[in-house]
Amino acid sequence: ISQYLFSTEVLNDGSVPNILGTNSEMSVASIRNGINDQEFEPYFQPIVNKDRSIYGVEALARWNHPMKGILSPPHFVEFAEEYDIIDEIDKLIIRKACEKVVKLNEGREKPLYLSVNVSAKHLALHDFVSFIEQTIDETGFVYHHLCLEITETHLISDMESVSNKLLYLKELGVRIYLDDFGIAYSSLHYLKKFPVSSIKIDRSFMEDITQNFIDKEIYETIIHLAKNLNIQVITEGIETPDQFELLIELDANLFQGYLFSKPIPFEELEGYLLAQ
Ligand code: C2E
Ligand code: MG
Ligand code: MG
Ligand code: MG
Repeated sequence: ISQYLFSTEVLNDGSVPNILGTNSEMSVASIRNGINDQEFEPYFQPIVNKDRSIYGVEALARWNHPMKGILSPPHFVEFAEEYDIIDEIDKLIIRKACEKVVKLNEGREKPLYLSVNVSAKHLALHDFVSFIEQTIDETGFVYHHLCLEITETHLISDMESVSNKLLYLKELGVRIYLDDFGIAYSSLHYLKKFPVSSIKIDRSFMEDITQNFIDKEIYETIIHLAKNLNIQVITEGIETPDQFELLIELDANLFQGYLFSKPIPFEELEGYLLAQ
């Protein structure tokens, strides 16, 4: 993105044409407006057990743009990270997701775990821990049902400080997931340094898993590694019954993908749960 900053391509209002392969003009001001007007909201994608019963949900940001309709993260996440406003989107999504799922869990015998995505840039901010505490406090959500998915699009520079924050939150009951495991700079390093309770294997390995020996071997090895470390594996991007069967054979714990459900608005999630 930075190449745009220094090129004549940048428009007077700071917006960048054709960014991220879309025709839409994205600018810090437009995202900030969207945040102020609460246009960002969570969709929910189920995470299921071997028997397809629901284990939890992942909150995924959607921008309900007044002119452009529903925009998904590829339209804005990278941009928001580059301009250091991703934490504001994270916060809005986390708060709204906690508010919704806390109500849902009231009537459930088995409460749902709620996963939220946290940008490495957001984690680095000094108010990260107090934001989580305040959100739990104000929404009535439960620490033990909250899972933070650390997305690794940026290298975490201050490992010591981040690790301390995560340890503190873990003590309170929060679970730490490593998202997109296998494609970022230092996944194994994070595994060593952070109090990780689950690995989410990146879905780029899923596509060919039933055909490609290497992809299958990668799953098998990571699942084995996780077992030895006593942590869970969540496999994401499952689209076909063949993939699901193979992953069960490989002894994966938890599953997520279009085969079970796409990310859906909260109202549809309620329907999904009733149908179960
Ligand atoms: P992620 O956290 O790895 O989320 C999984 C992505 O894969 C989601 O894309 C989901 O819709 C998609 N997906 C799930 N199952 C399947 C499947 O079976 N097939 C295919 N083809 N795709 C599947 P989405 O919603 O576009 O989100 C993209 C990424 O944006 C997320 O990847 C996450 O890194 C980021 N993101 C989303 N919401 C937030 C947020 O609130 N804050 C931050 N910082 N990042 C977010
Ligand atoms: Mg995620
Ligand atoms: Mg992922
Ligand atoms: Mg991702």
